[in-house]
Amino acid sequence: MARDEESVRKPLEKPKRFVWPPARREGEESGGGGEGGGEPDLRGASGPASDRASVGWWEQIERAYLGVTSPPWKRRVELAGFAADSSDAWCFRCGRSVGAYEVVTEGSDAGCKGCRGSRLPWKRVVRLAAYRGVLRSAILEIKNSAFRRLGSDVGRDLGEQLVTCLAYEGLAASDAIVVPVPTSTWRRFARGIDHPFAIARGVREATGMPVVQLLARQHRPMQTGSTLETRRKNVAGSMHLAWQWRHQPVPMPRVVVLLDDVMTTGATMREAARVVQAAWRERLEADRELVAPAIWIGVLGVTPEKTEPGNTEGL
Ligand SMILES: [Zn+2]
Repeated sequence: MARDEESVRKPLEKPKRFVWPPARREGEESGGGGEGGGEPDLRGASGPASDRASVGWWEQIERAYLGVTSPPWKRRVELAGFAADSSDAWCFRCGRSVGAYEVVTEGSDAGCKGCRGSRLPWKRVVRLAAYRGVLRSAILEIKNSAFRRLGSDVGRDLGEQLVTCLAYEGLAASDAIVVPVPTSTWRRFARGIDHPFAIARGVREATGMPVVQLLARQHRPMQTGSTLETRRKNVAGSMHLAWQWRHQPVPMPRVVVLLDDVMTTGATMREAARVVQAAWRERLEADRELVAPAIWIGVLGVTPEKTEPGNTEGL
């Protein structure tokens, strides 16, 4: 008994297991709920302590009791001071970052010094930012820990970026559909997430653009550290029209956004564009009045050139 009393008198220690509701801290006003049964303060900064001024109630609980270190996207953005790129930060044709004084031309000889003169099957690349820092770690987390909510939250930001770029061409979200670049069934099973689809769902939530799963993909071994040529060979023929679209006309809006998490060499996107264009061909030949949709690329990140050696994420 004496030992029990002693333990009762001890100052409060961090609880060993999850306790609900959490003990109120000194200086914290008791809410209207009485006896600790009230709702947690959703405004977050209810106490005088400076740490509580900046974190929400759920985050406090997670940190204190669950040891979770995986904050939501909005919080990561705040902490890292991340902002989506303005449209002059990347080349609209190939997606690579452009310097402050670098010229990106439009028209027949369009592009930056890296892509001008090259043939690309798409008209425009829309990206959130370069693939590094907080964006890179979020993308890796979406893939590796099947964090769907994070995927759709980052996807929402990409949706806003897409709407901005559509407006630049006098188009609206209703002129476009989103086609997520598929992961193979095997990879989806191994990872527990179809991450491009999770991102596409966020784009749909933010913009109302329909998500159409036009494509399916065979499993091929991961080609990390390969050159563009190796990647192209590896991915060639790996995609096909999803079976449910083989016997019905594929949609032909003004813009089709091929959506993936990261673009590195563009080999995967070329393959996706090839299949989509082949699916349109028959309809275009049958009806000369039809106009082929413009293919756009929507990605969260574009791998920077040579700035991150050994960085071989994405294709
Ligand atoms: Zn370019």
